[in-house]
Amino acid sequence: MRTAFESTAIVQLQARLRGDVICPGDAGYERARRVWNGRINRYPALIVYCADPEDVLTTIDFARRVGLPITVRGGGHSMVGFSVGNGALVIDLSRLKGIQIDPQTGIARVQAGLTLGEFVHAAQVYGLATTTGTVAGTGLGGLTLGGGIGWLMGNYGLTIDSLLAVDLVTADGQRLSADATEHPDLFWGLRGGGGNFGVATAFAFQLHPVDRVLAGKISYPLSQAREVLRFYRDFTQAAPDELTAYVDLTTTSHGIPVITISLCYAGPFATGERLVAPLRTFGSPLLDLVHPRPYLQTISSDAGDPDGHHYYEQALSLPELNDDIIDLVADASAARTSHYSQVLIQHVHGAVRRVSSTATAFALREVPYVMNIVAEWNADDADEAERHMAWVRALQTALLPFTLKGVYTNFLGDEGQEQVRASYGVNYERLVALKNTYDPGNIFHFDQNIQPTRGVNHTRAVP
Ligand SMILES: Cc1cc2nc3c(=O)[nH]c(=O)nc-3n(C[C@H](O)[C@H](O)[C@H](O)COP(=O)(O)OP(=O)(O)OC[C@H]3O[C@@H](n4cnc5c(N)ncnc54)[C@H](O)[C@@H]3O)c2cc1C
Repeated sequence: MRTAFESTAIVQLQARLRGDVICPGDAGYERARRVWNGRINRYPALIVYCADPEDVLTTIDFARRVGLPITVRGGGHSMVGFSVGNGALVIDLSRLKGIQIDPQTGIARVQAGLTLGEFVHAAQVYGLATTTGTVAGTGLGGLTLGGGIGWLMGNYGLTIDSLLAVDLVTADGQRLSADATEHPDLFWGLRGGGGNFGVATAFAFQLHPVDRVLAGKISYPLSQAREVLRFYRDFTQAAPDELTAYVDLTTTSHGIPVITISLCYAGPFATGERLVAPLRTFGSPLLDLVHPRPYLQTISSDAGDPDGHHYYEQALSLPELNDDIIDLVADASAARTSHYSQVLIQHVHGAVRRVSSTATAFALREVPYVMNIVAEWNADDADEAERHMAWVRALQTALLPFTLKGVYTNFLGDEGQEQVRASYGVNYERLVALKNTYDPGNIFHFDQNIQPTRGVNHTRAVP
């Protein structure tokens, strides 16, 4: 039950906005509080659908005055649900969908509420693209601020390596534009430092000519996991920049346990076909869907990870795929507790690794393989959640001796401050200095939080 004071404050907030305020009890609240991961079940105090950057500024000002913790939601795809908190105010950006592309310069100016699918679709109209993630519903905002790995990373690096500028609303209500010449330090921090420095309302990206690519997936029986993983290791070690390949171990929608190599080759088709040929002759593929296609088709609608299913993930950084790792992954995949669960390995290479670890806030440039161990189950199976999560933890624990320190922050869960520090790695102290300047009160802390060392810290635990 709201007090009269609270009701009046909310009415006054609504009057200052072009967007909409949703409160508990309102029609639409149940839907509005939900995020992609159905396991996240939180009850924000307010959800503000901002219609423009002014709404963002007004909402931050309101939250600070009434003392509400703030969360920021782009596409709602944070695995641990950083974009919603019990009793918090959600700044929802999903109505900020503006997009302008100059086909002459290849520069895209886009608002922060776009999903990857919307962004890639608009750019592909001009035969342009840059690196994004691979699942359409993922938010462009969260993905970009954390780094962004995807099919084009060998050629063009991380998403942030094609980022030219960011428009930001800061904790103290300033609207800034950061790029290589204006606020260059902030621009450095926004390329990998996540949502720590403010709310990004728009980005500018340099796009690249990308039209048709050779892409798709080849699946083998899961019983051949060891052989396929060894093959994948050699295949990726020899891969040129144009070829990015992932491997995942899961079950098809028809109930067949498989190991699948998915790939995208963005270069001359004849060369690509030659590179892919060994995949076709190796083992006994159950399915071969690799063929030339528009790049847009490589962005999957949900990659088998639908909205509302329950998810739990641990991610790891691997320096190599040695035989011990391969054995552990193969055995654990055969022993999954849910047929939806999967192990995914992404090869990070090419242009990503040619940028220095200190050139942007994204420190983990040297990590060649990123592994996601993901338990997935549906709501009906909620009683079994602990068993599914234990499967993830068991494999993670077994693999720990083989891992590098730190994890790509967009795949990091809520493992605590030590792991956050390790993941910002060599850049952590510089990020703290930036946080002290732009958010000394730690208004923006529902993220992989860089904790300021001066100012009154407003961090408030949200259950
Ligand atoms: C199915 C799935 C597939 C994925 N695939 C990939 C992939 O291929 N490559 C990859 O690199 N990552 C991938 N990710 C990880 C993804 O990049 C992160 O989960 C990212 O945070 C999602 O962004 P979002 O806007 O949807 O997140 P949200 O949950 O909306 O936000 C998460 C956090 O990001 C910050 N944030 C988001 N938008 C803004 C903004 N405009 N301003 C300030 N802070 C903001 C906030 O701190 C917020 O708490 C995937 C995740 C999922 C669930």
